[in-house]
This record gives sequence, C-alpha cells and structure tokens, in this order.
Amino acid sequence: ICKVLQGFSLSPTQLHRRLFSRVGAPRWNDHDSPEEFNFASDVLDYWAQMEEEGKRGPNPAFWWVNGQGDEIKWSFRKLRDLTCRTANVFQQICGLQQGDHLALILPRVPEWWLVTVGCIRTGIIFMPGTTQLKAKDILYRIQMSRAKAIVTTASLVPEVESVASECPDLKTKLVVSDHSHEGWLDFWSLIKSASPDHTCIKSKMKDPMAIFFTSGTTGYPKMAKHNQGLAFRSYMPSCRKLLKLKTSDILWCMSDPGWILATLGCLIEPWTSGCTVFIHHLLQFDPKVIVEVLFKYPITQCLAAPGVYRMVLQQKTSNLRFPTLEHCTTGGESLLPEEYEQWKQRTGLSIHEVYGQSETGISSATLREMKIKRGSVGKAILPFDLQIIDEKGNILPPNTEGYIGIRIKPTRPLGLFMEYENSPENTSEVECGDFYNSGDRATIDEEGYIWFLGRGDDVINASGYRIGPAEVENALVEHPAVAESAVVSSPDKDRGEVVKAFIVLNPEFLSHDQEQLIKELQHHVKSVTAPYKYPRKVEFVSELPKTVTGKIKRKELRNKEFGQL
Ligand code: ATP
Ligand code: MG
Repeated sequence: ICKVLQGFSLSPTQLHRRLFSRVGAPRWNDHDSPEEFNFASDVLDYWAQMEEEGKRGPNPAFWWVNGQGDEIKWSFRKLRDLTCRTANVFQQICGLQQGDHLALILPRVPEWWLVTVGCIRTGIIFMPGTTQLKAKDILYRIQMSRAKAIVTTASLVPEVESVASECPDLKTKLVVSDHSHEGWLDFWSLIKSASPDHTCIKSKMKDPMAIFFTSGTTGYPKMAKHNQGLAFRSYMPSCRKLLKLKTSDILWCMSDPGWILATLGCLIEPWTSGCTVFIHHLLQFDPKVIVEVLFKYPITQCLAAPGVYRMVLQQKTSNLRFPTLEHCTTGGESLLPEEYEQWKQRTGLSIHEVYGQSETGISSATLREMKIKRGSVGKAILPFDLQIIDEKGNILPPNTEGYIGIRIKPTRPLGLFMEYENSPENTSEVECGDFYNSGDRATIDEEGYIWFLGRGDDVINASGYRIGPAEVENALVEHPAVAESAVVSSPDKDRGEVVKAFIVLNPEFLSHDQEQLIKELQHHVKSVTAPYKYPRKVEFVSELPKTVTGKIKRKELRNKEFGQL
C-alpha cells in the first residue's frame, strides 16, 4: 500500500482527501446518514487543505470588523491552527472531555468561532448564550445544564461571580479580556502557548454537539440538544439550495451569537460552502451602521431577523441600493408582507423567509431560486417530512389549519434535536403520534407552501374566526402612524374573545387625538384586510415586551388581558 501511495506522491491524508473529498461535490444524498461526521475535520480542515493546494480563492474564511478601525481576516489554515490550540487548551489545561458542557457567552468577537470549533474538535458540548443574560439567567443555564466550564467576556465576570458559588459543577472559568481577572483563566495567554497540533475526535453522527436554549417566549427556556446531524444537514443537496453559497460569497449573518441562527448562519452554512463569514461587532443594532457596512464591504448575502430589516427601512431618507448585496434572508419571526414590499422597492432585492426553531434548525424556507409567495414561510426542507397535523398526529389535508409537525417515526430525521436535556417529560410532551409537534399553527397549500399563522396560543379565536396576529399587525404597519404593534386576544363579555392591538406610534403621531386615531386605524385595517380582523380594542404603548432575542412576548400581553400575571 505504501508503494502505491508513493506512486501517487501524496501523503496518506492527502490521498484520502483526494479520494473522499466531501465538500466540493457532496457525495451524500438527502437521505444518507453516514456513521461518522465532524464539522471541524470534515469541513474546516478540508477547506484549509484546499487553500494549501491553491484550490480556494483569495477571500478570507473569516472577516471581522468592529467599526473602530480594528479588522481581522483569517484563512481556513489560520482557523485550523487557532481552533486546534483551543482544543488543546480545553483538554490539557482545563481537563475537559468529550460530553462535558461548556457555556459560551460572548458577544460577536472572533473568539466565539474559536471556542465553538474547539469544542467540536474535542466533543465538548457548547451551549451558546447571549451577553444580554443577567446573573439569574446565567445561574439558571449553568445549573440546568450542569456546565463544567464557561467562556465569557470581561463585562459578565461580575455576573458569573455573583452566582458561581451556587454552581458546584462549574470548575473552569475562561475570560476573553484585555486584563486579568482573579480566579479566571485568560483565553489568549493559554492559546498563545498551546500547541497547534491536535487530533480531532472521530465523532459519530449521533454524538451530541451543542445545546441551544429556546428563547423563552412562552416560559422558561428549554435546552434543545443537537448532534452532529445539525451540521451535516447543511451538507445535504436540498439544504445547499437554501442560500446557494459559492466560495466567493461573503455572508453577513447578524444573529446574536446566543441563538441557533448564529450557529447556522455565522458558522455552519457559510463554512460548509467554503465562503467568507463577515461579522461586524455590532454592540447595538444601529440601522445607520448596518446601512454603512452594506455600502462599505463587498457583502453578497445577509441574514437577519425581520426586525433588523424593519429598522433599516425606518431610515426614511437613506439610499438603500447596496452595491454588492445579492440575496437577503430572514427568520425567527413573521416577516410582514408590507415590509417585504418596501424592502423590494427600496433595495431591488427580495427577502427570502425561513422558519425554524431551536429544536429544528431551519424547517422550511423559500429557497434561493424558488418562487416567493409573500407571507409564506416557504416549503419544507429535506430530510424533514413536514406535515400539518391535529392534536393526535393525524395528517390534515391542504388548506386546513393545524400544528406544524415533523415526522419522527419510523426514523428521526438528521438535524432535528435529540431531546430536551434533562427533561424527558418535555421531550415526550412534544411527541404526537408519528410526529414532533412544533406547537406552531399553520396551513399548507397544494404546492407545499407553508402559511404560518402563529404559536398555538397566539392565534385569536374571535366570533368563530381564526386570526393570526401577524395578519392584523401587517395591516396596521401599513398605516404611517404605526411603528410596531402586537395583536393578541382579549376577553369580551358579549363576544368571548376579541382582537386587541397594542401599538407603538411613530413620534410624529404622538400628539394626535387618540380617539380619532383609534377610529382611523380601525377603519384602515377594515379597508386593507378582511373586516372581521379589525382590532376592536386598541391601546397605545411606548414599547412592547420582548425577549432578549427581540421577539414580542404576546403571551405576556394576553395574560394581562385575561387578568393573570
Ligand atoms: P420558547 O420555546 O422557549 O417559548 P421560542 O419558541 O421563541 O421560545 P425559538 O426556538 O428561538 O424559541 O423560536 C422558535 C419560534 O419562533 C417558532 O416556534 C415560531 O413560533 C417562531 N418563528 C420562527 N421562524 C418564524 C417565521 N419565519 N415566522 C414566524 N414565526 C417564526
Ligand atoms: Mg419554542
């Protein structure tokens, strides 16, 4: 064998890669499930190898700016070096092992990518969290997950310290900071002295990789545990059609690093295709900065929550014809058709919507080349068999409202979460016949497009009509007075339930006569959508209750209406 290899003048590793090159032309189909997969060795190291062989263009793999003149550009080779060092630090200095839990609470700094890939190399399960978490949120997460390690930023050291004594499992605390902190290991000092040689674990497809805490929109966040299948799924031909990324693409995903969307959009999706991850530190969502960045850097694709597009659109005067931007994607909340239209008019670009959960990654989408139906969340993406089901798991016919379900029997598809960590009750609660029940209500049309109506209990049942909040919110936002609104059900002694809108007004309308404005808004809704949807009750508020992700907590408003706190 050695002689044969010499004949090829390639090292065994090179030969292996040549023969089994996985990324350039995927050798797996949508229903394949290889025994072993590891995102670090199968994807990142593959691209590092391609760079070494001169087979990848000049763009960096990672391009980070902070708006204050600092800039980092790393190749895949550099990333391989740094993430191998990180893996060595975790195993050798911190004594962490495959299967241990690590809480990762960093802002959009380059170290976030080093930690995630370092974890994947070693089999340590990373659990991203947003830096907006406070001491009690961190305590909840560390206790629930029995995390052995945390990597965080200087500003959160006091929050962690205030609860650390209540977390007996937490042995390792690493900080990314310019100065030292007592009781904390300094990330960069350790990385600098660590070896860049590391042997990646051979992970099984079913080995856990990450735990994502749900947003907690309806209660306490749940811990959705995912295996390597989450990363493998991006490889599948059907999933590649989502963004159709090429190595020359530069993708800017603005999701907070704490959410599954960041793991997908800032890490897995772009690097699977060997393209550039662009990141702006973005301490706050300043629409002016977003517009500037889209003009200044050669970004070809962006991915952000609907609220980000909304904020940019509210910059009424700016020119929004971005020079290199080709494709926009959104998800996490409903994109209102009105916002889609405005974006299209002002930028010349369509926004493609995806729908998913921490439990599912991306379940459905309007793929890059698919016809867009405004207001729909696109079609199911393989290997998910997505159906509209009733409470017992029976499949409902097209155009009939029910729950969005994903088939789990006879086989649980790759990319769907494994379970809620430490909570078999919650896990079995969402199993419904042969399906996982997402808890979201929708219909599906004859062409397979999914029409999201709302979370199970956000749907309003008024006089026998079923009304999704987004339908009314969309009608309201078309009126110039409305900056934002949340529509919920409210009790009514004659009608049972009625539609109520909580509205944040645009500043110019604050001084208007409120009674008059309510009438005008009601009239407006009746004129642009089916009249039964109009809000019989309207309340003006200065802001809406939101989760740290920025999602509207309709449940909180509804509970107040029904007198529960
Ligand atoms: P929790 O499960 O703790 O209540 P959460 O469901 O908000 O929180 P996530 O997993 O972050 O936590 O969010 C998934 C939910 O977001 C979906 O179940 C759905 O209700 C909503 N969602 C996601 N994408 C879309 C979309 N394109 N349109 C409308 N809603 C969406
Ligand atoms: Mg949820």
